[in-house]
Amino acid sequence: LVSTDLIEEHKICVCVRKRPLNKKELTVRDLDVLTIPSKDVVMVHEPKQKVDLTRYLENQTFRFDFAFDESSTNEMVYRFTARPLVETIFERGMATCFAYGQTGSGKTHTMGGDFSGKNQDCAKGVYALAARDVFLMLKKPNYKKLDLQVYATFFEIYSGKVFDLLNHKAKLRVLEDGKQQVQVVGLQERDVRCTEDVLKLIEVGNSCRTSGQTSANAHSSRSHAVFQIILRRKGKMHGKFSLIDLAGNERGADTSSADRQTRLEGAEINKSLLALKECIRALGRNKPHTPFRASKLTQVLRDSFIGENSRTCMIATISPGMASCENTLNTLRYANRVKEL
Ligand code: ADP
Ligand code: MG
Repeated sequence: LVSTDLIEEHKICVCVRKRPLNKKELTVRDLDVLTIPSKDVVMVHEPKQKVDLTRYLENQTFRFDFAFDESSTNEMVYRFTARPLVETIFERGMATCFAYGQTGSGKTHTMGGDFSGKNQDCAKGVYALAARDVFLMLKKPNYKKLDLQVYATFFEIYSGKVFDLLNHKAKLRVLEDGKQQVQVVGLQERDVRCTEDVLKLIEVGNSCRTSGQTSANAHSSRSHAVFQIILRRKGKMHGKFSLIDLAGNERGADTSSADRQTRLEGAEINKSLLALKECIRALGRNKPHTPFRASKLTQVLRDSFIGENSRTCMIATISPGMASCENTLNTLRYANRVKEL
């Protein structure tokens, strides 16, 4: 007898990835407050002060499916997170992989990859690595005979609106039909034949994402980017892999900003990250009150959360610096809640 707990545990994989201290943090001599004592544990050593002003470290321990330290590469992180989900979409399932964390903690580095040339180990991110394995898998005799076609989409959700990153940021409408099927009207689905095709689309999408912005992070910290790999058989959807670079979770706290627009964006991000947590927790259990419609993000991902063969992984990215401690703890608590049954 297999316990249902085990099955459900299997549907959600939650991992954490620590990045190294960056130049800026090293310059101001920020301290690394994170240790990863084993392959599934992360410890936060939070500096505190008693009333008599003596300083001490408060240690907090979190356990996940995997914890990756600062020496990990995208390939390693990918292998234990998204890689096992590639199979799912060949078996007619829906897979999702989220990068969740504070701005600057490494979400885009993990998902989109690092094209700066600084870091050859991490040039390809989860988007490209998943695509690579999809094309490899297609060659296996079992799947080859299915004659599957591969398509990719890339869009962004900003302030509750959907924009097509493969079509000059065209604003798209989201429609729900009577059967609660959700459709992003006019979303471009590009035919892709090899990893290089996918790399080109990632580049197009990324430049579209940041065009007209004063800084790449200013915009991306407030928007969710969704990259999808879709398998079709005779035109019909066979499986879908959604890979998501979420808005910076610290933005949810912008709800008390003096600027109205920032406040509204903050509220929207907060709402979507809360709804996301609930939807992941309800994964495959078909709970009647799953708040899919509470945000655009969860609404467009609805079909990925329902169904027998849906699997999800979350990569919580964390910054090592003492200055980021509070955000890091928030990220770890959120990740913990996602994995708890
Ligand atoms: P986010 O998308 O979460 O805002 P980024 O992915 O843009 O964060 O990362 C911020 C900076 O840190 C980038 O310059 C990136 O190259 C670097 N960085 C992030 N993660 C790592 C890592 N694991 N190893 C080395 N550099 C990293
Ligand atoms: Mg980013």
